[in-house]
Amino acid sequence: MAHGRIFNFSAGPSMMPEEVLQKAGEEMLNFGGSGMSVMEMSHRSKVYDNIIVETEAKARQVMGIPDNYKVLFMHGGATGQFAALAMNLMPRTGKADYAITGNFSKNAADEAKKYGTVNIAATSADRNFAYIPAQDALTLDKEASYFHYCMNNTIFGTKWDYVPDAGDVPVVSDVSSCILSEPVDVSKFGLLYAGAQKNMGPAGLAFVVIREDLAGGAYPYTPKILDYAVMIKNSSMYNTPPTYSIYIMGEILKWVEKMGGLTEMKRYNTEKAAHLYDFLDNSKFFASTVDREARSLMNVTFKTSSEELDAKFVKEATAAGFVNLKGHRSVGGMRASIYNAMPMEGTKELAAFMAKFEKENG
Ligand code: PMP
Repeated sequence: MAHGRIFNFSAGPSMMPEEVLQKAGEEMLNFGGSGMSVMEMSHRSKVYDNIIVETEAKARQVMGIPDNYKVLFMHGGATGQFAALAMNLMPRTGKADYAITGNFSKNAADEAKKYGTVNIAATSADRNFAYIPAQDALTLDKEASYFHYCMNNTIFGTKWDYVPDAGDVPVVSDVSSCILSEPVDVSKFGLLYAGAQKNMGPAGLAFVVIREDLAGGAYPYTPKILDYAVMIKNSSMYNTPPTYSIYIMGEILKWVEKMGGLTEMKRYNTEKAAHLYDFLDNSKFFASTVDREARSLMNVTFKTSSEELDAKFVKEATAAGFVNLKGHRSVGGMRASIYNAMPMEGTKELAAFMAKFEKENG
């Protein structure tokens, strides 16, 4: 790779497309002849207005967001949304259903408990979140204000391969670690949200897509910057939005479009992930930590037979230029996060490195 850059397998913040970083660098001192950096612009200026309007339009186009959905740029990352979505949507009936398939969906449910009654619709904790519950294993309440699940479980390396059907209950999903990685039928959801720092941009920015009829019912004590109706009314500018992060998101969306859009992104990501999964399937030394049907395209988790060998692998991989491969402490082993911006050579070369390590240590 150019500019001394290395293959960074971090779970997030993570690699960004090199051409986006380069363009941002070129525009750092003087954006589009404005004589200033995007960071120095008033969010109320004409030049900045163009950026945010264009970013929203690009998101709508790339993701195929229907007209009856609002797009919001908010603060506080995905964790801010754990609270926001509960404060906004829970008041309808005072209760909500949550599927627990990992750390973040548990955090989301714990946060929601402050604002209403949370029913655990399903959990895969019994096998340390190595699988995704089937539709018929979900205990759903027709009276729930919404059903929440986390589409891609960043820590455990699993992904829901279907959109759960909750009948008339709005489906809400945390798509932080899979947004823009493949097409999503937005019309099946009441609300989608993501922290930007994996596939969309810098950390801190939260991206929200909400069916418009769901906004407007927040608890009266909801902070204004977390109230969807207030944010909609003010076009995400009730206060100063994360201006620079929104600009970078716009550039990333243009890059996704140039790559061929979400269908092509899925094909590319599937091919990348296959380098690792095909290797793992044939290895007697390394093993995947999750069920085959639940495999994530974005976070590939695996182990050797011992913690000592895991540590040796991470150390040698780091020295060879494959960084941030240590798994989360709740799973152990390794995790290769291979978001959109990880180039094809990254997974190809990592698989070759794993084969070499297996030969030397197996
Ligand atoms: N949800 C998921 C699926 C995540 O991967 C993360 C962060 N890794 C979060 C929520 C939390 O995001 P943030 O740090 O932006 O609050």
